Amino acid sequence: MIAFGPVPSRRLGLSLGINNIVSRKVCSYSCVYCQIGETQSKSALRTVFYEPGKLIENVGNHLEKLDERHQPDYLTFVANGEPTLDINLGEEIRLLKRFGIPVAVITNSSLLHLPEVRDDLREADWVSVKVDTVNELAWRKINRPPVFLKLKEVLSGIRHFANEYDGKLHTETMLVQGFNDSEKQIRETAQFISGLNPASAYLSIPTRPPAVKNVKPVSEEILTAAWQIFSESGINTELLAGFEGTDTGFTGNAFDDILNICAVHPLRQDTMQELLKKDNTDMSVIESLVFQRLIKKVKYEGMDYYLRSYHF
Ligand code: SF4
Repeated sequence: MIAFGPVPSRRLGLSLGINNIVSRKVCSYSCVYCQIGETQSKSALRTVFYEPGKLIENVGNHLEKLDERHQPDYLTFVANGEPTLDINLGEEIRLLKRFGIPVAVITNSSLLHLPEVRDDLREADWVSVKVDTVNELAWRKINRPPVFLKLKEVLSGIRHFANEYDGKLHTETMLVQGFNDSEKQIRETAQFISGLNPASAYLSIPTRPPAVKNVKPVSEEILTAAWQIFSESGINTELLAGFEGTDTGFTGNAFDDILNICAVHPLRQDTMQELLKKDNTDMSVIESLVFQRLIKKVKYEGMDYYLRSYHF
């Protein structure tokens, strides 16, 4: 399924997700903290995933099923991988404007050195670019890019985009214990981001089960120190360390909703229970999905989460 949710987003209010990458994850990175698991198909080559008309039709049909309370604030490309790998992204954003809802894209920034990717992203109303670190060694360890990608090129692409973009630009930095959390690194990252002059910079920590088991969020002390360093650099900085809430969108079919949301957004047990309540059903739906190995249960920081399970 292409459209899912809407889900409460810490950045975008009620956000209707658009997964423009086919079911198997395809990404140019394999971040240690990725919430959708290891990247099986690492690629930095843009390609066709859907015909734009099909994607727009799917989003339109999904919007029609939502009641007034769940009309989204944003249509957000948040894919099962990196959304800019979709060669039709620009055209899709242009076509989505017919719904009169602002379009957001959350990108890992790895392809921003390509002018055609920057052209596509300029069509969006809101863009978030990933800047976890500006240190080459740390970047290779945390984001695990393909060997031929160079951080210098990626950072120059981000700078270029920031200079030419008229919409709302945001940055996101995931702070991971032992990877990018030294004071020196945080200061260097803040200095780079300050030069982009973003509307805001988000500092986040892994709050969902990560791809690599021993990945841990930084302590509250380091998160607070990072916030201070960013703020002192003149950046409007927000922490994204909380839980989004439990009110997910509901299209009338809990089975489909759960599968679609879990593909890109692991669901915490209490969120799942809310969703089931709306469908007048109970945990037996989940037990059946787990039994069929369509989703799996993962424990993280004492909480149960459900995420999509793929078998090849
Ligand atoms: S966090 Fe985003 S950029 Fe990193 S591997 Fe996952 S999908 Fe790709």
